[in-house]
Amino acid sequence: GHEVSGTIDELGSEVKGFKQGDKVAAYCINYCGKCYYCRKGLTHYCVDFDKNIMSDHWDGGYAEYVKVPQKLLLKLPEDVSVKLGNLSLDTIGVPYGAFMEVDITKDKSIAIYGCGPIGLSFIKILNLRDIYDVYAVDIVENKLQLAKEFGAKVTINATKEDPVKLMRDMTEGLGVDMAFDTSNTVDALKSAIYSVRKGGNVYPIGEHPSLPSDLSEIFISDILVHRHLGVRGLMYFPVGEHQHIIDVLRKGKESFEKLITHVFPLEKIDKAFHTFFEDDESIRVLVKPRG
Ligand SMILES: [Zn+2]
Repeated sequence: GHEVSGTIDELGSEVKGFKQGDKVAAYCINYCGKCYYCRKGLTHYCVDFDKNIMSDHWDGGYAEYVKVPQKLLLKLPEDVSVKLGNLSLDTIGVPYGAFMEVDITKDKSIAIYGCGPIGLSFIKILNLRDIYDVYAVDIVENKLQLAKEFGAKVTINATKEDPVKLMRDMTEGLGVDMAFDTSNTVDALKSAIYSVRKGGNVYPIGEHPSLPSDLSEIFISDILVHRHLGVRGLMYFPVGEHQHIIDVLRKGKESFEKLITHVFPLEKIDKAFHTFFEDDESIRVLVKPRG
C-alpha cells in the first residue's frame, strides 16, 4: 500500500496549489526536508527513511481514502490517467532513480536480472536513452518477450541457459560492465555478481535477502578485491525527479501500458496478491478501491 495514485477528495485548510479533483500520486517517504540529504535534494536518502514510509509507518493505500501530507503529493498532468500515473512511482521511478544515480553511458554493456515491472521499465528507459547493449535475464518466457520488445539485445531464460556463461561468451570471456538485480533473489544476485567483468559494478535494487554464508565468506577477497568489483545498493528516487519520470512515462507510454496486466477491486485484494505472486503472466497488478 505504498504505491498510491488517485484524485483529491478533500484538502486540509492550509494546503495550497491543489484543488479537489486533481489527479495525484503520492511519494511514499515522508522525508524531513531538513537533513543533510534532503538539503541536497536526495529525499530518498533522508535520515528518516527507515521510520517514515507510507504503509510501513502510517496507513497506506489499500483503502478508499488515504491521508497524505501535501509535500508528498505529486501532480499528474491532464494527459496521464490515475491508472497509468501509478507507474510513475516505483515502477518507473525506481529504475529512473537508479539510472540517474549511476553513470550509464552508451558504450556500457548492461545486464538486467529480473524482468518484472522494474526490470522491464529499466530496459525501456535504457532504450529511450539509446542504450542498446542490454542483456535481460528472467525465468518466465513472456516477460523475456516483452524485454526484447522493450529493447533488450539479448534475452536469457535462466532455467534453460546459464546467464553468466552466456554473457561471458559474448564479451570475450570477460563479462558485462554493469549488472542490476531487480529480482530480489539470492540466486540472481549471485549470478549478477559473476556476470560482470573485472572493474565492473553490481547494483541490487530494492529489498534483498541476505547472502548465504558460503558466498559472504569468499565475497571480499575473491570477488570484490581480486576482481576490482563495485557493489552499490539502490532504492527509490528523489522527489524532485518526478516531473522527469512523467516525461519518461509519456515517451514510452505504449510500452509502459503493457505492464499493467491486472486490475482488481479492493474487495478482491487477496486475489490481487495471489495473482501477483503466483501467476507468471502477471506484471503490474493494481487494486482499484472505487468505480
Ligand atoms: Zn531528510
